[in-house]
Amino acid sequence: MTSIDSAAALLHAASRISVLSGAGLSKASGIPTYRDADGLWRDENAVRFSHIDDLKRDPEGFHNFWAARMAVLSEARPNPGHRALVELQMRRPSTALITQNVDGLLAEAGAQEVFELHGNLRRWRCDSCGNREGPWLSQRCPRCGSQARPDVVMFGEMLNEGLLTRTQEVAAHSDLFLVVGTSAAVYPAADLPTIAATNGAKIITLNMETIDVDDVAAVVLRGPAEELLPDLIQAARLRP
Ligand code: ZN
Repeated sequence: MTSIDSAAALLHAASRISVLSGAGLSKASGIPTYRDADGLWRDENAVRFSHIDDLKRDPEGFHNFWAARMAVLSEARPNPGHRALVELQMRRPSTALITQNVDGLLAEAGAQEVFELHGNLRRWRCDSCGNREGPWLSQRCPRCGSQARPDVVMFGEMLNEGLLTRTQEVAAHSDLFLVVGTSAAVYPAADLPTIAATNGAKIITLNMETIDVDDVAAVVLRGPAEELLPDLIQAARLRP
């Protein structure tokens, strides 16, 4: 039995599946990962404009940088990895898709609900009046005229507490937890596989490299998400 077959058998038998995804899922869509050699942190502007205080320090620079990032993102398209996860959710509608990515590509691929831990860089939001009905062409809120900001969690900001609690509950009630394209080393993502495993879930990891969670995984899959996920979902023979 190959690792894919073992993982597929676990998926087939599971009823409450959660998937935590990270940058490795979107790499094939041309979204640079943060820490790679060509990653975002090599861009000095990313370092200058990633803290919420940078918005006050240099509003124009902040908005120009993020508007350019959003423009890049609007060109990106979902890859077979995103589509495989959407198919999984179609066939097992209780499947929870949790992501650290801000690219919105799971939703773009047709996912019904996505827990976007770090927000979504395809839209602006207004902290003055709470308007989240982006995307707007202007960086001014069309409702109240205040300066808008990307709807993502910046450094210096807290994660959405309600969202965090819901993902922890989802993890605790999973019987299968899949970790895709993320080292799951940084809080809060790091907590989720642990919560799932503590509550009896089986863990599958799918990454290019070894991660800590591999130690508690029932199956470790090694390779690119856009190749392995479609194979895995097909091999699982899931019926709606
Ligand atoms: Zn507003």
